Amino acid sequence: MNFLEERIQKDGIVKPGNVLKVDSFLNHQMDIALMEEIGREFHRRFADKPITKVLTIEASGIGIACFAAREFGVPMVFAKKSHSINLDSEVYIAEVESFTHKNKNNIIVSRKFLNADDRILIIDDFLANGCALQGLIAISKAAGASVEGIGIVIEKGFQVGGQIIRNLGVHLESLAIIDAMDAETGVITFREQ
Ligand code: 5GP
Repeated sequence: MNFLEERIQKDGIVKPGNVLKVDSFLNHQMDIALMEEIGREFHRRFADKPITKVLTIEASGIGIACFAAREFGVPMVFAKKSHSINLDSEVYIAEVESFTHKNKNNIIVSRKFLNADDRILIIDDFLANGCALQGLIAISKAAGASVEGIGIVIEKGFQVGGQIIRNLGVHLESLAIIDAMDAETGVITFREQ
């Protein structure tokens, strides 16, 4: 069991509806020593890639992406969630369905901060159905940039996102993959990696 799986086992709370709450160390209160370790681990896994930018989505991806970007020595850009369709030509837009809020948002990134020379590492906290990642991939493509890899802290392997993203041929690394979790017993089963 790796450092992250141990922490999820200890402090993660399984909620009904396939939701894992990790707000005591990742999503609300953040354990900075753990964040540093996560940043180092992403750097180790993508060390051979010429990353120029780390891209994530607000809000919970931001802290994690900062630590990864620090390791690579590159800027971090986060997609903003907007509630209206923004027709401003100065932004890239993609539509994303939220797993936790069950609504659709446009996510936007200013054209100033992504361009065709960028080699992007996408980072996010969770992978569930893959909608957030598909939005970030669409924005990277709109910029003409290449997606060199995707780093996820917790993949819920029993949902479809992992397969969808791997089928796109993108190098996806998830630090912990959950194969099953039970809201009644609280038992979390990790995939051996
Ligand atoms: P997806 O777009 O892959 O369906 O969902 C990923 C996004 O939904 C992540 O950015 C994350 O914020 C949120 N999310 C999905 N599943 C969970 C979960 O079990 N717990 C928490 N805290 N967030 C989740």
